[in-house]
Order: sequence, then structure tokens, then C-alpha cells
Amino acid sequence: MRAVDIIIKKRNGLKLTKEEIEFFIDGYASSNIPDYQASAFAMAVYFKGMDDEEVTYLTEAMLHTGDMLDLSAIDGIKVDKHSTGGVGDKTTLVVGPIVASAGVKFAKMSGRGLGHTGGTLDKLESIPGYNVNIPNEQFIDQVNKIGIAVVGQTKNLVLADKKLYALRDVTGTVDSIPLIASSIMSKKLASGADVISLDVKVGSGAFMKDEESATELAKLMVQIGNNCGRKTSAILTNMDEPLGLAVGNSLEVIEAINTLNGKGPKDFYDLCIVFAAHLILDAKIAKNEEEATALAKKQIENGEALKCFAELVEAQGGNKEYIYNPSLFELGKYKQDVLATSDGYVTKIDALAIGNAASLLGAGRLKITDDVDHSVGVVLNKKVGDKVSKGEILATIYSNNAKNDEVIKIINDAFNYGKEHINPTLIIKIVK
Ligand code: URA
Repeated sequence: MRAVDIIIKKRNGLKLTKEEIEFFIDGYASSNIPDYQASAFAMAVYFKGMDDEEVTYLTEAMLHTGDMLDLSAIDGIKVDKHSTGGVGDKTTLVVGPIVASAGVKFAKMSGRGLGHTGGTLDKLESIPGYNVNIPNEQFIDQVNKIGIAVVGQTKNLVLADKKLYALRDVTGTVDSIPLIASSIMSKKLASGADVISLDVKVGSGAFMKDEESATELAKLMVQIGNNCGRKTSAILTNMDEPLGLAVGNSLEVIEAINTLNGKGPKDFYDLCIVFAAHLILDAKIAKNEEEATALAKKQIENGEALKCFAELVEAQGGNKEYIYNPSLFELGKYKQDVLATSDGYVTKIDALAIGNAASLLGAGRLKITDDVDHSVGVVLNKKVGDKVSKGEILATIYSNNAKNDEVIKIINDAFNYGKEHINPTLIIKIVK
């Protein structure tokens, strides 16, 4: 077999066999196939697509290029959640502690963010001392003891994805449904959880810009997960505005802590309760959705979820004082308000633009090796549906630069206005 023939076959829109896909992925993971051929392959898949069978073969081939985590030493049903990536998405920091404090085993490997704003690991690292690299035995031990661990992916987890995702990022081939589905699901399957809950974001701040393509991606991932014996479901959620108010690493951790204290923004709180209830139900801790929802809310009201977050932070070497006293977080030296230049009801806040604004302040990275500034970001003061008058505060930025004109313009331009109040939709649909 030759890599070039496989590329030509896909370029011509033909279906690849299991053997061809395995040959290509194994060859790429072991560096027998070079980056330039893998780029051509990714572009061919981007334009010609793959059918469900090919995507399943691709996922399995990727899965076998690295270690599989064995979580069998953890008692009970292990759950994991994953978001396809959104702006202001700090859901793991709230959902994990809610479900773990309710008796669910939350064993999560997270990634770092590329592009706009940091990923879950970057957010957790804004807590001084928090260590995302713990050995597998400690990971398992910790989940058995306190019900939760949130760590970075081990070096050998899905090697093919590590290489391919970095390549896709610089070759314009990220937003392809077969490539996203196989990338996410190979990592989820390798991470070993029994239950997988997926948050598929739809809108300007997401890879999937419309409901139709997001539904296709969700169905494909759910099918792959279930075919591999994992109970998998997906929820399509709106990304036509950032989630919650805070965008930026420490700011998002503070918002997560406020939410665990029962004082979070409504959209973010509601989303966390929906995901937590799903995981509680799928882990068989509750008999039905109402019971699962009530339990999720109770874990916030009785302070158990916050306590669990502090335990997680302490177990992974972080300073838990920050969780009980978030004013300890160091924020950007310069605090500046962004004032509205128009009147009206907010109809949309371009999430990607807000993410880019936070990234310009230093909250995100362009290359995986870049550092992020944990102390900077944007806190919205207005959300979709709110009425705004000229001169009112739209958002506040936290920066370590005195001059922020470009960022202020991006934030102002991100706001769209209309004459009438609209109610934003948060949950678009559930795919099981
Ligand atoms: N997240 C991933 O892990 N992979 C993708 O391809 C897209 C988002």
C-alpha cells in the first residue's frame, strides 16, 4: 500500500477501506508518513467527507496509536464530559464537583486551549499550585477517594490525534465533521469512562456554525460512543454569545466558584445543572430526570459541590484558600470599562470576537508552546436580551497593558442590537 494512493482515492471521493485507514494512521503516528502527506489527506477528507463506517474505522485506528487508560480499579460507573469548545466555557469546573459530591465518579482528562482563551487545564492552573500532571495511579486513587480528578492527557494518549490536530490547526482542516468526531471520540474512548456526555456548541463562537451540521456531528459521535459500549449522549447548546459573563482564565475560575456558591450567571448555572443531571442519571444515581435535576441543585444549595471543588484543588496540590476566598486571585493591573456606542436590545454577542479580544489581552495562545496570562480577560455586563443605552457599561476588561483601544473596539463591534427584546435559547436539542 502507498500513502499517495490513499490520498488520491479520497481526493476522488471514494470510500476508504478499514485497512487503508489503518495503514495511513499507523504510518503517520510512527512518522513513516510525513506531515505533508497527512495534510493532503486531511484536506481530501475535508472536501470529500467520510461515511459513518469510515469515521468509525478512523476513530478506532487513532485510538490504537496510544495507551488506553484502564479505569477498572475505580469502583462504580465512571463519567466524562467534553465540550467541542466554546467561549467562556468553564462547565467542567462546576459540573465535575456537583456530580462527584452526589456520588458519581468523575474521571476527566482535559486539553489546553488553542486560539481564543485557555482550555480547562489553563483555567485550573490559575489556582496556585494546581498540578495537572499526576501519575495514573494517583489519578485512579484520587477518583476512588474524593470522586473527582481533572488532569492533562497523558503523553501517549492517542498519538495520531496529537500530531494530526496540531497539523489541522495550521492547514485549515479543523472544522471537518469526520475529523472532529474521530479526534474527540478517540480521546474519549482512550480515557476509559463508561458514560460520555458531549456538549456540542452551535453558533458564531463554535466550530459548528449551524444546527444542521452540529446535529450531524453530535449523531456521529453518539453512534461511535455507543457502538464502542460507552453510554454516550450529546446536547447541542447555543454559542451565539459567550457562556456566562467571564472570559479569561482566573476570571472564569472565579465565576465557577460564584456559581458553586449559588451566585452564578443564569445561563451558565442552567447549563451546568442540565449536564450534571444527565451524568447523575446515566450513572444511575437517580431514578429519573426530575430526581437527578433536584439532586444537582441540592449539591449547590448545601455547599457540598463547592467543598468538593476545594478537595479537588487540594488533592492536586493547589491552594484551596482561593476557592473559599476568590479575591485572592490576582487580576490584570488595568481595569477598563467598555461603554456602549449604540442603543437597543442586545440580539447577539459574537462569541468568537469576545474570545479573540480576551486572546489579544493574553488569555489565549496562538501556538501550543505559548504561555497564557491567567490574570487577564473580559467580564460582560450585558447579555443577549438586555436593554442597552448609549454610554452604559457593556463589559469590563482586565489587562496588563495600559492601552486597550483595539480590544475595546472588538468588544463594541461584537454586540448586535435590535428594536425588540429576544429570549436567548440555551439548549437547542438532546441527541441520544
Ligand atoms: N476538539 C478536539 O479535541 N478535536 C477536534 O478536532 C476539535 C475539537
